Amino acid sequence: MNVPSPYLGTPQNTIAVLNKYHFVFQKRFGQNFLIDTHVLDKIICSAQITREDLVLEIGPGIGTMTQYLAAAAREVVAVEIDKALIPILEDTLSGFENVTVIHGDALKLDIRCLAEEKNQGHPIKVVANLPYYITTPIIMSLFESHVPLDSITIMVQKEVADRIKTGPGSKDYGALSLAVQYYARPELVANVPPNCFMPRPRVGSAVIRLACHREPPVQVEDEKLMFGIIRASFNQRRKTLINGLNNSSELMISKETASATLESMGLPSGIRGEALTLEQFAEFTNRICEKQ
Ligand code: SAM
Repeated sequence: MNVPSPYLGTPQNTIAVLNKYHFVFQKRFGQNFLIDTHVLDKIICSAQITREDLVLEIGPGIGTMTQYLAAAAREVVAVEIDKALIPILEDTLSGFENVTVIHGDALKLDIRCLAEEKNQGHPIKVVANLPYYITTPIIMSLFESHVPLDSITIMVQKEVADRIKTGPGSKDYGALSLAVQYYARPELVANVPPNCFMPRPRVGSAVIRLACHREPPVQVEDEKLMFGIIRASFNQRRKTLINGLNNSSELMISKETASATLESMGLPSGIRGEALTLEQFAEFTNRICEKQ
């Protein structure tokens, strides 16, 4: 990796930057900075970044991964919420002309508009060592707002990686696993232990890559309705699918309609949502649409 020296992915260089700016970690922003060059190399390599790419980095911190991304990509846009990090990023990224730092909340940014402006609507690559509290909202909002995406390569809590990669029958299976399956092909890149971060998080982490589908793997008439059904059926995991749907204020699906639909699919009326595959949720949704 052609990153100018001294770069940041080591404990010594990270401490030097933190001390220079008297930086105080903000727990509420989930700040755990990467200090392991092997992990950084692995992330960049698995993200398959080329000189053609526009990369969006969410939460650059002091710019550790940003330096690696800038060395590999055509252009990097990094969005950081913590004001105290902005002057630090100006310093650590001063050697790169292809980086734009935006001070703001990634959850409020119009990423679709950004992709349109900076990449003429072509698919972008998202790379992030995400604060754990925004992992699911970030992934869901990237997918649901139909940002043109090539892939999302992210560091997440190990437990979230398990949830993303699982199927029916597992306790980790849920709305997130189904959404990811619908929009992308998930792949585990690496497990990352706490000692690769400063400060060390209490839990293990994992890097996953979500390679976004050009076409979804199932055909569904009403995507919004399918995800409404999925959410309702996992909101009350221990309840049957029929009761979950009936209790949802968002959906208008009667017990009779749900039961008849399940029967037409050859499924028992007492089945729980957690037993259905993505294909079955799509089929169930399409049959409900036919009835409406
Ligand atoms: N990328 C850096 C690294 O790998 O060392 C820092 C990763 S740290 C886990 C997460 C970063 O995301 C922090 O810099 C934090 O301030 C920032 N952050 C937290 N919430 C954010 C949000 N809603 N939008 C943008 N950045 C956010």
